[in-house]
Amino acid sequence: MDIVLKCPQCAAEVSLEEDASVFRCEYCESTLMPTGRNEVQSFFFPPKGTREQVGKALLKALAKKIGPVRIEKAYLVYAPYWRVKGLLFQHAFGRKYENTLYGGTSYDYFKKLRAVAYNRTFPAFAAKQWEVFSLGLRAEAMKMWPYNKEKMGKESLVLEENVPLEGAVKMALQTPYPAGSADREKIELLKTELIGERYSLVYFPFYCFSIIQGGKKSLLIVDGLSHKVVKGSLSLDELEKEPRRETVPYRPLHFIPFKCPNCGWDLPYRPKARVHLCRTCGRAWQEKAGHFQEVPYRVVLPGEGQRMESFTYLPFWRLTVTIMTPERKYRNLKDFYDLFPLPRVMDKEMLKERRIQFMVPAFRIRNAAAVDKFATQMARNQPEFEETETEEFREIRAADVWLPLGEAMEMANLLLYSMVPKRAKMIRKTVKEASLRLDEKALVWLPFLEKGIFLREANTDFAIQKNCLELD
Ligand SMILES: [Zn+2]
Ligand SMILES: [Zn+2]
Repeated sequence: MDIVLKCPQCAAEVSLEEDASVFRCEYCESTLMPTGRNEVQSFFFPPKGTREQVGKALLKALAKKIGPVRIEKAYLVYAPYWRVKGLLFQHAFGRKYENTLYGGTSYDYFKKLRAVAYNRTFPAFAAKQWEVFSLGLRAEAMKMWPYNKEKMGKESLVLEENVPLEGAVKMALQTPYPAGSADREKIELLKTELIGERYSLVYFPFYCFSIIQGGKKSLLIVDGLSHKVVKGSLSLDELEKEPRRETVPYRPLHFIPFKCPNCGWDLPYRPKARVHLCRTCGRAWQEKAGHFQEVPYRVVLPGEGQRMESFTYLPFWRLTVTIMTPERKYRNLKDFYDLFPLPRVMDKEMLKERRIQFMVPAFRIRNAAAVDKFATQMARNQPEFEETETEEFREIRAADVWLPLGEAMEMANLLLYSMVPKRAKMIRKTVKEASLRLDEKALVWLPFLEKGIFLREANTDFAIQKNCLELD
């Protein structure tokens, strides 16, 4: 969905791609940063046709069907829907049953990771008796406008949103694992996370008519875009009495200059990035509550004698965590390997000195399973890196940071499940009860060398296929 807006510089009507974190005007070419994109924003769809036009058509249709009717009241009513967009990750553990030769059944354990684009709308108002539960696919092709009561029509009524954000999050996570080859599979443990998700409130137009026929009153609701009559109920009398909402729910869209707050130069135009790296002074920024905030980062250098420029740098959130379960706190690597044993022998005393760290990929992912495999390998092996703060970083090839820090913790939660072997019932049980506590965080860029179709991390030699991530 595109967002329609007026360019703050030249006032032309332009559109902003829903996923974009940077705006560039196609007319005057000014580049600006829309703020509040990380928070819930409100939009509306303008209706097609006026109340009078739609009412007239309705009367005509009704006259044919049930005889003459009279419209007593007519209102344009906006109903709020939650729109959730992100990547849905699901780890499923279970058993798969098979028939044996002699008429019995046997089973084997399985473990699967599913990652799909998640894109849904559901009512944010009391919609029990409404037919329109989702705006469905047609919403995808439409343009939406930032919430603006004046543009929505002074006379229009707005239904109250009474499903709070937490409710929306909960609903979004209630996605069942799709039944595959299917009835033979029994899912025993399912972990669902939405990553990189954005929530918005979208106000959808309905024309509501209170009609009178033969002294009897009834209500007709018409979809403001398709003009189809939909089932639903509401009381226009009550809605009329309530004071009209004039305050904008949630944050409106504002713009700030897309310039580095430190050196004043333009930041590179990377509309998909969530952290913007200044290529002039080398500082990194992210927008929060209408301002740029500096994001400190560190860089892992390739081995001695190697030139920084020959590497591609990929960003990771390095999270130092404690794995908490009702029985135990797993804090250092000795604890960690008690939970996820490694076949090789390691110095226990040394492991006690080191904390558990997850390197969560922050770049844009194209193949979730492959990236998960790579990240799991990192998590299992807990490599140590030598990091520095460097100013040279502006010169080199670095992938965009797509995953904000808040989402990195959700990724870490998934990684915990990625590390569980499919037959390890005890580990599975522990992980199911576990939660992660974030103790420290840092943005770290790791050097990768291109070798054929692979990118190999310079210090560990762990490899990932180039086409599994989006560079540019
Ligand atoms: Zn412009
Ligand atoms: Zn700068």
